[in-house]
Amino acid sequence: MEKTKVALCEAEVGTGKTHAYLLAAVICRLFHADKQPIVISTSTIALQKALTEEYIPQISSILLQHRIIDAPFTFAVRKGKSHYACDSRVKTYLASLRHNDRLQEQELMEIEILTMLFTGGCPIDLDGLPLTDYVKGCIRVERCQPTCGLASVCRYRSFLKEAGQNKIDFQIANHNLVLGDILSQKGGRNRLLPEHRVLIFDEAHKLLDAARQMYGVGFGNMELERLAAGIRRAVGRHPKRERVFWICEGMLRFNVLFFETVQDAARRGYDHSCRGILFSRKCFLALETLTEILRELSAFFYAADQQELIFRQDRKGAGDSVPALFWQNP
Ligand code: SF4
Repeated sequence: MEKTKVALCEAEVGTGKTHAYLLAAVICRLFHADKQPIVISTSTIALQKALTEEYIPQISSILLQHRIIDAPFTFAVRKGKSHYACDSRVKTYLASLRHNDRLQEQELMEIEILTMLFTGGCPIDLDGLPLTDYVKGCIRVERCQPTCGLASVCRYRSFLKEAGQNKIDFQIANHNLVLGDILSQKGGRNRLLPEHRVLIFDEAHKLLDAARQMYGVGFGNMELERLAAGIRRAVGRHPKRERVFWICEGMLRFNVLFFETVQDAARRGYDHSCRGILFSRKCFLALETLTEILRELSAFFYAADQQELIFRQDRKGAGDSVPALFWQNP
């Protein structure tokens, strides 16, 4: 930590890993000149709870008893914005519920909880509230506009301001939020976490999955089927429609071949000698051919769009089902 290097640590369950890194982090926090917060990233709520309800209070109380610190350690639990209530959306949703004069028991209960939420009677963290996923979806923070009329009294904004202060010792986050913070930093956007010099990934075996979710791109075997169907509907009476259909057929043949060869490779499984999964030459050829076909289709749609030759009638209806990719520069 002192030299800001990476340490990869593994130990069996119950041997004290969490205590080990917390004590090292505490020393770093107490004695390093920059006094930046320590970020701990976990993948489960259970571990976040254990950290905030057991580990940090326990270490705090031992150090207090020995007069090494004079106030307990502080922490902020950080989650993605969708876990918090937006005051403005709560207000709108509440108004829509109250508008209804035939309220069921469930809605009366929702009105009670939402009123409490709006008037500050309960925290804005939605995870602990007995509301349905639908209601949570209607009131969670989405796009937070700077022009929002409630911005000056917004509790979500106050929470972010409060939680992001350097005086808070620990930022307890999850892997997705930390990876999102790295993306924001790279993209020059507002950081989600305060500046920190120590970052600890606990439950790091889940980091790969989180990284795949945040940075990865998925490609399933049905995607090109859907694309081909969208293209067939979109080309309408274009003079080159036969050629486009022919290209689509080729695309679907290679799509099948590609996924068959991927399945073959998956069936063979992990190859210990090369420490990976071996894909056949056929698989790579299918992928290369698919890439070429998609490039050709992309160029075709781009040119057609530029010349405004086709789709004028179809744009409103079926034409919209062609993915945006094909309306962009190839
Ligand atoms: S400032 Fe953003 S989060 Fe706060 S009430 Fe307005 S829209 Fe919602």
